[in-house]
Amino acid sequence: MKTVIRGARVILPDSVKITQVIAQGSKILEITDHYDPMPEDRLIEAENLYLCPGFVDIHVHGGGGASVNSGSAQAVLDMARAHAGFGTTSLLPTTLAAPMPQLLGAISAVREASSQTDGPTILGIHLEGPCLNPLQSGAQAPGSLLTPAEAELGPLFDAWPGGIKMMGAAPELDGGMELGDELTKRGITASVAHSNATYYEVQEAINHGYSDVTHLYSSCSGLVRVNSYRIPGVIEAGLNLDELTVQVIADGKHLPLELLKLIYRCKGAEKIELITDGLEFAASELKEGTVYRQENGVETVYEDGVMKLLSRQAFAGSVATLHRCVRNMVKAGVPLPEAVRMASENPARRIGAKGKGRIKAGFDADLVLLDKELAPVWVMARGKTVKDSLSQTTKPCRG
Ligand SMILES: [Zn+2]
Repeated sequence: MKTVIRGARVILPDSVKITQVIAQGSKILEITDHYDPMPEDRLIEAENLYLCPGFVDIHVHGGGGASVNSGSAQAVLDMARAHAGFGTTSLLPTTLAAPMPQLLGAISAVREASSQTDGPTILGIHLEGPCLNPLQSGAQAPGSLLTPAEAELGPLFDAWPGGIKMMGAAPELDGGMELGDELTKRGITASVAHSNATYYEVQEAINHGYSDVTHLYSSCSGLVRVNSYRIPGVIEAGLNLDELTVQVIADGKHLPLELLKLIYRCKGAEKIELITDGLEFAASELKEGTVYRQENGVETVYEDGVMKLLSRQAFAGSVATLHRCVRNMVKAGVPLPEAVRMASENPARRIGAKGKGRIKAGFDADLVLLDKELAPVWVMARGKTVKDSLSQTTKPCRG
C-alpha cells in the first residue's frame, strides 16, 4: 500500500510547489504529478496545507515529562513520542552535565531506545558538557562541570562507538583544544558550548576541529571592553566566521525576532540549525508560575511561556517545539522554505544523518502537514502515522 499525499504545497529546499508525494513502507517513493492513486492506496487530501520534511531536533533534553538524564530508555521513547506530535520526527537526545555514572546511564538508555523505536528516529546522542565553563553555566549544574584536562572522557566515548554525534564543550578551558582534536578524530561534531572564549580563542578552536556554536547568544561570551579595547567573544565569532554553524533557540523568548533576523543576515539559510533545547517540560501542558525541579536539581519556574531560573536572571532551556521555532523565523522575515530547512535538512546534515531532512525520493518518509498557522496537523515518521488531526479529510481512495 502506498500513501499518496495530494494537493499539498510541498516545501522543497528552495521552493514551494503544489504536487503529489508518494510514500511506501518507510520511504518516500516519488514526487510526481503523474500518478493515479490505486484503490488500495491511502489517499491524503491536503489542499491548503503545507507538506514539509519532518523536523530534526539535535539539541533536546526532554519532553512530555520525560528526560534524557533520567537514564531510562522508556523516558527517551516517551520524549520522542511527545515531540513527534509536534512534527519532530528525528531527534538527538541531549544530556545535561551530570556525574559520570549518570551520563553513562543516559548513553545506555538512549542507545537502547534508538533500537526500539519504530516511529520517530533517535539519531544518536548529544553530550552537552560536562566540560563547560562555570562562568557561563546557565542552567547546567555547576557542581557537575569539569575541565577537559581533569575529565576522564574515555569511558563516555567508548560507551557507544558511533552513537555520540555531537559534544558541546568550552574550548578555552584547560585541555579544551585537545578535546576538539579528540572529538574530530572520533567523528564527533565539536560545538563551542557554555563558553567564555574570546573571538581569538574561538578561531584557535576552529583549528582544533570545533565547527559549531551551541545556542548562539545563550551562555556565550560577547563583546567586552578591556580598558580602551573591545574584545569580541563567542557571539561575534559565531556570527562572523563561515567555518561555524550555529544552533539557535528560536522559541521567540530566548532571542527576540530582531536577533533572529541578525543571525539570518550573518549566517544565511544553510548555517543555522533550529533547536528547542527543550527540557522534560517541553511538549507538555504547563501552568504559569509553577516551579519545576530539573533532573539535575536546578529549580526553574514557568513564566511567560518559558522556563527561567528562580533568580529570573536567566532562561533555563525551553519548552518549545520545533514548529514554533520555524514559525518565529518566518516572523523574523525568513522565507518559509529556508526556515523549514533550518529545522530539517541543516541539522540532519550537521550530524551526518543520511536520508533525513528532505522531501526526496529514497529519503525516509518523515513528513508533516502544517496548516496556515504552521501548526502540525498530520505527522508521519518513517511511514508510520504518529499524529492525525485530519480524519475528516483523510479518506481511502474511491471508498
Ligand atoms: Zn541544552
